[in-house]
Amino acid sequence: MPRLKCGVDTCTYWHEQYCVRDGILVKGETALSEAETKCSSYRFGDRKATDRSYKFEIGKIGDPKFLDVNCEAVYCVYNKRRICHAEDIKIDGSRARRSSETFCSSFDLKKSSV
Ligand code: SF4
Ligand code: SF4
Repeated sequence: MPRLKCGVDTCTYWHEQYCVRDGILVKGETALSEAETKCSSYRFGDRKATDRSYKFEIGKIGDPKFLDVNCEAVYCVYNKRRICHAEDIKIDGSRARRSSETFCSSFDLKKSSV
């Protein structure tokens, strides 16, 4: 289970550099670079409007920095059977308004894929 930091501050699940979900799905089955991946769990939302419920959720899930990350980017070195085994990952896309504008900046192409 990776430790996840997220820079997508337009996402409804974003809270102070972390994701309050207990898991995410990264898509990009044919991705050969980070730009071809995306966090499909992204939802555009006004963080301030629901800030109180975030704190409640964080209280429930404990440490929000560790997440289950299912990932379809099978050409990434950290991908084993569609689960991310990296120690740390970063999801980015600071001006995103949709999932396709986010990406996993920790993607690292398997040598055997080129
Ligand atoms: S973009 Fe993905 S990782 Fe980032 S807060 Fe949203 S759901 Fe979580
Ligand atoms: S580091 Fe690789 S395996 Fe992990 S979520 Fe990012 S693209 Fe998927």
